[in-house]
Amino acid sequence: MFDPEVEARSLDDQFKRDDAAFRRQISYLFERSPFYARKLKEAGFENPESVGGIDRIAELPATDKDEIRASQQQAPPFGEHLAADPADIMRVFSTSGTTGTPTYIAATRNDIERWATNTARSYYASGFRPGQRLVVTFNAGPFVAGGAYFGFDKLGATVIPIGLGNTERLVSAMQNLGAGNAGLSSTPSYALHLIDWCAEHGIDTKSLGLRNLSVAGEPGGADPLIRGRVEAAFDCVMREAMGIGDISTSIWGECEHGGGMHFSARDNTFVELVDPETREPIPWKDGAEGELVYTALEREAMPLLRLNSRDHVVVNAEPCPCGRTSPRIRCIGRTDDMLIVRGVNLFPTAVGALLKEFLPEVGGFFRIVPRKRGVAQSPPLPVSVELGPDVPAAPDGLAERIAAAIRSKLVVTTEVTLVPYGSLPRDEYKAKLVDYSQAED
Ligand SMILES: [Zn+2]
Repeated sequence: MFDPEVEARSLDDQFKRDDAAFRRQISYLFERSPFYARKLKEAGFENPESVGGIDRIAELPATDKDEIRASQQQAPPFGEHLAADPADIMRVFSTSGTTGTPTYIAATRNDIERWATNTARSYYASGFRPGQRLVVTFNAGPFVAGGAYFGFDKLGATVIPIGLGNTERLVSAMQNLGAGNAGLSSTPSYALHLIDWCAEHGIDTKSLGLRNLSVAGEPGGADPLIRGRVEAAFDCVMREAMGIGDISTSIWGECEHGGGMHFSARDNTFVELVDPETREPIPWKDGAEGELVYTALEREAMPLLRLNSRDHVVVNAEPCPCGRTSPRIRCIGRTDDMLIVRGVNLFPTAVGALLKEFLPEVGGFFRIVPRKRGVAQSPPLPVSVELGPDVPAAPDGLAERIAAAIRSKLVVTTEVTLVPYGSLPRDEYKAKLVDYSQAED
């Protein structure tokens, strides 16, 4: 463990420490954050004493990303949730703006130090070690993901920044510098793209010397279909990590034993599980499912209270042989990606997981292609599934077998169309599993 004292701590001890940090942060919010001082007062909390301890956190109002965006529009550039002296800001990141106007995310030196700690814990859990050569395929800025570089430094890795969109440079770096000791940080879809690229260029993927791969940025990293393909191709261990821009990089990181991601942001972040419909808290029990809600406990520049993440997860509360005491999670999708087909919730990633049963007849790429926009869809839901790389023509009855498996396991009626390998678009950064380009408004 990178921080054994913290990562192996008992849940009771952690809760006591979180309670103390939470009380300090609430006082800081009343003092320094006009946004939260007002929001808490409007919700009936006049002062820190009336908020109480962390055992009552679920009584406090939650925060939506839209509120943060609105706060920045009303009080540019940083919004009324800025709680630090602007001169103390060390970095200003921005969001990609794919779901609206980009927002600025400011961080002080201490904030960055905590992100670095979370990232170092997460990557260490995934098998990365000091001195290991770490090839990084995302860009340093302007997005928060670039903040992970501070964590790679803290871990003590030999960092080789490559950035996005230069696979040739990436492969050369691994050939020249990897020496059987390479680690790679990328997205799951980029790892798959790398396999195809190597095949096209006659390069043996196993010759690249990749030992560890940590993927983030999209949910596919836990998909057994994708993981199995990548680990077999590179003879490496693939694990996943997850963060959220407004809170921290790498809040979660998966250990050598797999089975989900451990919480790597102890002491600086508190996480709740809530019901996505009722917003009621859900206990962290084995098999529980819900949306993650984050509270910063030590944030200086832009502390957020009960941020709705829109990330849906399932909990694995089995004790982990690695000794880390936090429960593990799998992200099963985003509220924003969820479709409801005749009353049944469907996460596109669930379709991906199910396609594993059809290897090697299918290759792992698919798209849901709804006929109309919006969350509510009527059956049959059109799904395009790519055949495997060595399957030139659709085997008889395969589409029907896939549709039957989806109907029996996910209780959704689909219309499966098989398409040749390589015909669906490959996204270098985030794979879009739902394609509305053929939908009516
Ligand atoms: Zn573990």
